Amino acid sequence: ELTDITSLLLSRIRDVADYPEPGVMFKDITPLLADPAAFSALTDALAAVAASTGATKVVGLEARGFILGAPVAIRAGLGFIPVRKAGKLPGATLSQAYDLEYGSAEIEVHAEDLSADDRILIVDDVLATGGTAEASIELIRRAGAEVAGLAVLMELGFLGGRARLEPALAGAPLESLLKV
Ligand code: AMP
Repeated sequence: ELTDITSLLLSRIRDVADYPEPGVMFKDITPLLADPAAFSALTDALAAVAASTGATKVVGLEARGFILGAPVAIRAGLGFIPVRKAGKLPGATLSQAYDLEYGSAEIEVHAEDLSADDRILIVDDVLATGGTAEASIELIRRAGAEVAGLAVLMELGFLGGRARLEPALAGAPLESLLKV
């Protein structure tokens, strides 16, 4: 059954070469989102991770982490918290800057959404270098909450994100449904 889900999910992800720039193989999840059986199976699998980690809330990373994380939160019976690119949240925020290949980026969360009692499952579509996830882990810890784990649909193993995240995760699980 596990292999069935794996092959179903894999069959609904489209490889787009040289997007958004030359040399990048973009993993397009829009065919998966358009297939209700695949989207539902993905949601179930990620909700099972949420349950197994004992998460109290789901954090989704802008933007595809919102699409995947929100139904996971509903299915697991948990609240959903958006981690957004800087300048999008109207309330009091905590910010975390991180380095990109060229330049830097900044993510934010509403400080009041996270408390010391929370165990957070972070959800995103693709783990690449791990820079975005690393910054989100830092942000959640600075907000006083605990990181229960990180769950992604797909891990691009050759970019070394898992090794990079090991110190930040500090023993919390990294679950990827598909590895390439
Ligand atoms: P990174 O911080 O390098 O792990 O990049 C992760 C973020 O960029 C995730 O939010 C992904 O949605 C996106 N991303 C990076 N590489 C790809 C890729 N090859 N295909 C699709 N999305 C990607």
